[in-house]
Amino acid sequence: TPKKGFRNSTSRRDSSSFDYKSEAAKKVELIAKNRDERRQRQADEKAQKDMMIHLEQNNPYFEFAQMINEFRSAVEFRPLRENDSVVENQITVCVRKRPLNEKEERRKEVDVMTVNTKNQLIVHEPKQKVDLTKYLENQHFRFDYVFDEGCNNDIVYKFTAKPLVRTIFEGGMATCFAYGQTGSGKTHTMGGEFRGKQQNFKNGIYGLVAIDVFKFLRTPKYAQKNFMVSASFFEIYGKLVFDLLAKKQRLRVLEDGKQQVQVVGLTEKVVCKVDDVIDLIQRGSLERTSGQTSANSNSSRSHAVFQIILRKVGSKHVEGKFSLIDLAGNERGADNNKSNRQTRIEGADINKSLLALKECIRALGRRGAHLPFRGSKLTQVLRDSFIGEKSRTCMIALISPGNYSVDHSLNTLRYADRVKELIANDNPEE
Ligand code: ADP
Ligand code: MG
Repeated sequence: TPKKGFRNSTSRRDSSSFDYKSEAAKKVELIAKNRDERRQRQADEKAQKDMMIHLEQNNPYFEFAQMINEFRSAVEFRPLRENDSVVENQITVCVRKRPLNEKEERRKEVDVMTVNTKNQLIVHEPKQKVDLTKYLENQHFRFDYVFDEGCNNDIVYKFTAKPLVRTIFEGGMATCFAYGQTGSGKTHTMGGEFRGKQQNFKNGIYGLVAIDVFKFLRTPKYAQKNFMVSASFFEIYGKLVFDLLAKKQRLRVLEDGKQQVQVVGLTEKVVCKVDDVIDLIQRGSLERTSGQTSANSNSSRSHAVFQIILRKVGSKHVEGKFSLIDLAGNERGADNNKSNRQTRIEGADINKSLLALKECIRALGRRGAHLPFRGSKLTQVLRDSFIGEKSRTCMIALISPGNYSVDHSLNTLRYADRVKELIANDNPEE
């Protein structure tokens, strides 16, 4: 209707005159807004810069962190996935990097380890030229697998010890070693993840092996074989052996005329279900660390050996054995504390045992090679695991990611690399 039309046209005129005014007002507003935003941005940038300067003044490694970030931004990451295929090797060598811990964060340490693919790791070693220019020395390492800080024990287990469980059901020996500096995550990996002081013994490699052993035992193929499972847990401290399932009773190691090595009197408990094994793991682990503070930790100077043994019911003959070893901190091997004779001797013992271990694993890869098992108590006790065509082994090298640990980490990686080196020579197609 016209009436409506009139009203409409009036309102249109009104609104257009209002629009006209607001257009100018909006422009002024916009200019003001832009100016405010620009100021805010400048303030933000300045705050950011101040923070950087603050960080730099407080962190001598800031420049290195920037260089590492730059390096990473150019890297294409294709890390290990849970569903990646598992390779069956006689000798598997892998590396696990843990996250920076609270202490390292507080010290403003820089994460100097980049895991870019499922089997490659790059160490960014902070260096300085004589004119004080900082630079990174980037060193590449390859292993069967590299686990980054996002991998939990379940994933590590799947690619390391799990493929070896079958071995002990088929007449072979299996070993799995955790090697690395104190604090790098050996006990976390082998015994179970820590939550504060509490350790979850069910999700360590010991417990996960136990779970799978009982699974195998109940499959139709093996259920009829009348297998019996037992477990033992002991500690090697220098030349001494202590039973972790018998209040650290001291044990003797004997070798008979046929080079059969025996730990005399070692407790071996028969286990009927997973919970029985978990109980033993817990008991032994607590026994190992009892009366220790982390600062004065004897456990970092000893090797812990947890074994799951398979026999036919009523027979003494060992059908298969899985030995899981939480090694002494490898930095202890370099302990040549001049003022403390005891520490020095312990360091020399640890060094000797880790070198002997490396040689024994290498010998396992070369059929018929001389086995230098008498080089240490550790290799002597594990002698039967390094012989036989069916024997298989896995080494997990643990590394701390922080820049303070880079020297120890490089030592760990070079050691693991030498164990692996031989495999590459033996199987050129790998
Ligand atoms: P080691 O036995 O090599 O001396 P631990 O296993 O005791 O070292 O680990 C030292 C600390 O680091 C522990 O508090 C542990 O919980 C933590 N840690 C180790 N590995 C990891 C990891 N992968 N993720 C989170 N924390 C870890
Ligand atoms: Mg430990």
